[in-house]
Amino acid sequence: MLTFQQLQSTTQGKEVQFVRPLPIVHLLTDSRKLSQPAGSVFFAIQGKYNDGHRYLPQLYTQGVRAFVLEQGEPEELKRLYPEANILLVKNSLEALQRLAAWHRAQFAIPVIGITGSNGKTIVKEWISQLLSTDELVVKSPRSYNSQLGVPLSVWQLQPNHTLGIFEAGISQPGEMEKLQPIIRPTLGIFTNIGTAHDEGFASREQKVQEKLKLFKEVESLFYCADYELLHQAVLAQSINSFTWSRIHPEADLYINATTTAGHRTIVVYTFGGEKQRLALPFTDEASVENALHCLAILLYRRLPLSEIQDRLDRLHPVAMRLEMKEAINGCYLIDDTYNNDLAGLTIALNLQASQPQRGQHTLILSDVLESGLPEQDLYRKVAELVQAHQVQRLIGIGPTISKYSHLFPKADFYTSTTDFLKAFNPDAFRNEVILVKGARVFGFERIVQAFQQKVHGTVLEVNLDALVHNLNYYRAKLNPDTRLMVMVKAFAYGSGSFEVANLLQFHRVDYLAVAYVDEGVALRENGITLPIMVMNPSPDSFPKLRQYSLEPEIYALEQLQAFVASLEPDVKYKIHLKLDTGMHRLGFEEQDFEALFALLERHPQVQVASTFSHLAGADEAIHNDFSQLQISRFRSMATTLEERLKYKIIKHILNSAGIVRFPEHQLDMVRLGIGLYGVEATGSEQEALRPVSTLKTTVSQVKSIKQGDTVGYSRRGIADVDKTTATIAIGYADGYDRRFSNGVGEVLINGRRCPIIGNVCMDMCMVDVTGVPVRPGDAVTVFGPELTLVELAQRIGTIPYELLTNVSTRVKRIFYSE
Ligand SMILES: *Cc1c(COP(=O)(O)O)cnc(C)c1O
Repeated sequence: MLTFQQLQSTTQGKEVQFVRPLPIVHLLTDSRKLSQPAGSVFFAIQGKYNDGHRYLPQLYTQGVRAFVLEQGEPEELKRLYPEANILLVKNSLEALQRLAAWHRAQFAIPVIGITGSNGKTIVKEWISQLLSTDELVVKSPRSYNSQLGVPLSVWQLQPNHTLGIFEAGISQPGEMEKLQPIIRPTLGIFTNIGTAHDEGFASREQKVQEKLKLFKEVESLFYCADYELLHQAVLAQSINSFTWSRIHPEADLYINATTTAGHRTIVVYTFGGEKQRLALPFTDEASVENALHCLAILLYRRLPLSEIQDRLDRLHPVAMRLEMKEAINGCYLIDDTYNNDLAGLTIALNLQASQPQRGQHTLILSDVLESGLPEQDLYRKVAELVQAHQVQRLIGIGPTISKYSHLFPKADFYTSTTDFLKAFNPDAFRNEVILVKGARVFGFERIVQAFQQKVHGTVLEVNLDALVHNLNYYRAKLNPDTRLMVMVKAFAYGSGSFEVANLLQFHRVDYLAVAYVDEGVALRENGITLPIMVMNPSPDSFPKLRQYSLEPEIYALEQLQAFVASLEPDVKYKIHLKLDTGMHRLGFEEQDFEALFALLERHPQVQVASTFSHLAGADEAIHNDFSQLQISRFRSMATTLEERLKYKIIKHILNSAGIVRFPEHQLDMVRLGIGLYGVEATGSEQEALRPVSTLKTTVSQVKSIKQGDTVGYSRRGIADVDKTTATIAIGYADGYDRRFSNGVGEVLINGRRCPIIGNVCMDMCMVDVTGVPVRPGDAVTVFGPELTLVELAQRIGTIPYELLTNVSTRVKRIFYSE
C-alpha cells in the first residue's frame, strides 16, 4: 500500500491537488482494465496510437480518485476533477518506472532477471515450477516484459515473497537501462540470441550489449557459452557467470551428450568434475535448451541429483495459448489453462469482462496455486476479483477453494474435475460467456471438451496477436489525425466477424464496414458499438438498418430516393456517398451530381458523414498512373460535394495496398482490409506482416496402394509406383478448392509437404504421404505460416482473398492469443 505523498516523492511529480489521503494498491494504465476504482491510481500514458488522458472523465465518473498525468492545466484539472488527488509529471511511463524501482528497492530477496530472444517466458515459468517447493515466488504474469509490463510485474512484490523471477524484453537501444533498476536482478539468465528485433539495432553485437545491461549487478549470469557472440561479450565485460556448453569442456556445466529416448532426452553432463546423467521430459530442441538453463540453476542451488530428477520429471509444457471458441447452447468459452495464479487470473478476468456479448458471465475456477499468500487471504482476494469483474456465477473446483465456499455467494463447488463432470448437465448453461481457468493438475481440458460443440476435425485457428500486430503495422503508417475504417465484410475475410470486430473495438479503430445489413446486425447483437458502414444495403433492409444504427453506403440516386422515403421525418440520419472514379462498379459520377445535390438539399435530415471511392489497381505498380488519376478525380469531386453541402465530410480512398503505395493520399480516413488478415497486397512489405489464419485438419486413414491402382473419383489419381496415401478430413465443401486436385495443391503433415493425389472430394481428399511418417489422427496444415496463402493462391491462379473467404462457415473458428 502506498500513500499519495510516497507516490509524489517517488515519481517526482508536481502536486496539482491533494484532497484527502487515499491508500493506493492498484496501478492502472489501461482504462479498460479498471475493476477496483477505490485504491487505483491511473497513469495517463501517451502511446503511439492512444492517449490515456482521453479517458480521465470516464475514469473519474467510475470512481478513480488518483491520477498521474503529463498534460493538463492545473486550474482546469481541479475544476473538472474536484475530488481527485492529481500529480503532474514530465512523462507518466517514466514516473511509473520510478515508482516500480522504488518498490523493488524495499525488498532484499533474490531476484532472477531473464532476457534473450526466445524462451524467456517458458524458462521463467519452469524455474518457478521447479522452485515452488522451496520458495514463495513472484513472477511476471504471462510475458509482461515491456517498458510497461516490467513495472506492473514488479509492483506485485509483497513482503512474504522469497524469490522474484521477472523477464525483460527490448526492441531498441536505451530500453534495458530503464528496466535494470526496476528488476535489479541478483541472478541473470540470458536464454539465447536470435534474430528477433534485429531491425531495432545497428548490429547483433549492439543488441547483445544492450541486453547485457540488465545484468550489470548480478552475482552470476547463466547462459550457454556456445553463443559465441554472447560469450565474448560477457567475457569482455567480466560479468560473473555460470556457463553451460556442448562445446567447451571448461564450462561450469559441460553437456557431454544428449540423446533422444522415446519422449525423453537423456543428458550426460559434467559438473564439478563429476559425470552424471539425467532425463528431460522433452525432445524438441527449444525445450531442451530451456530445460538446460533450468538445470544450471538447480545445480547452482546445490540440489541433490535425485531431487533434481524428481522435479524435472514433473516439469510440463507451458500452455501459453488462451483460446476463445463457441460452445454448446450459445455459450462462448474462454479457455485459459495457463497456470492459475492471481496475476494470471486477473488478466483472464479482464478479458472476460471485455467481452461485450450479452449473457451472464460464468467462471469455472480451480484451486489457485503458487500465490505465496495464506489461504484465507488468498481466497478473500479471489472473491474480491470475482466480484469486481462482475462474474455472476462461480463454479469452484478443488479441495481448497471448496473450503472457502462461504466467501462466494452464488457459487457451486466440486472437490475434483471428475466430480464436476459426473454432475455436468449441459442444459444448465445457456448463452453464457464462460471463463475456464484451472491449474494444469486439474486437467480442465476435459471440461473444455465437455462444453465444446461437436467438432469435425477441421478448424481455422485465428491468431489474435498477429491481428493486432498487423493492425499496428498499418496504424504506424497513418498520420496522427487519419481515421481508420476496418473492413470486416464476408465474415471478416473468413476469420470470424464478431471476434475480430470485438478486438478492433478494443483497440479503438474508428469505423467498421460490412457488405450487408445482416452482417451489421450480427455485430450489433454481439455488443459491437463502433459506427458501422454497410456497403450494399437493399431497400427491404432499410428498417433494420435504422433499428440497429447502421450507416448505409449510397451509390445511386434511386437508392437514395428509396432511403429518404423510408425515413421518419426530422430524425437525422448518416450516409456515406460512394463515388465512381474509374473502378466502374458502384458509385455516383459527376453527371449525377446536380440531381444528387437537389435531393440532398430537399432532405437536410440526411447527413453525409463521409464520401469515398475505391482504387481499381492499387496493388499493382503498373496501374500507378491510373490510381493517381482516380485519386485526383476523387479529390476534385469530393471538394465539389463539400462546397455544395457546406459542411465537412470525411474523405477516403485508400485500401490496404493504397496505404502502402500512396501514403500521401490518406485524406481523412483509410479503409484497411486484407492487410489486417496478414496478406500485403502489393507484395513489397509482406515480411512485415504476421500470418493470421491457419487452416488445419486431421488424417482419417492411411493406406498402402499398389503400382497401377487409382485414387478417388474418376480414377484421376494414378499410382505410378507403390505408394502410401492419407485421407484427410477436408474437401471442397469446407472451402478447399477443387482446383488443388491432382498434385496442384500440397498440405503439410509432420513438417513435410505432401501433394494432393486424385480429385478433391466434397468432404475429404487424399494426399501422397509416401516416405512420410503418418498416422491416423495426425494434424494436417492446409495453409498457415509455413504454407502461405500467397503461394497457394498462385498455384490455382487466384488471389489470397478468395482462399480466405472460401473457408466454409461449417469449419470451426478458434481464436487464440499467447
Ligand atoms: C473490401 C474493400 C476494401 C478493402 O480492400 P483490401 O484490398 O482488402 O484492403 C476497401 N474499400 C472497399 C470499398 C472495399 O469493398
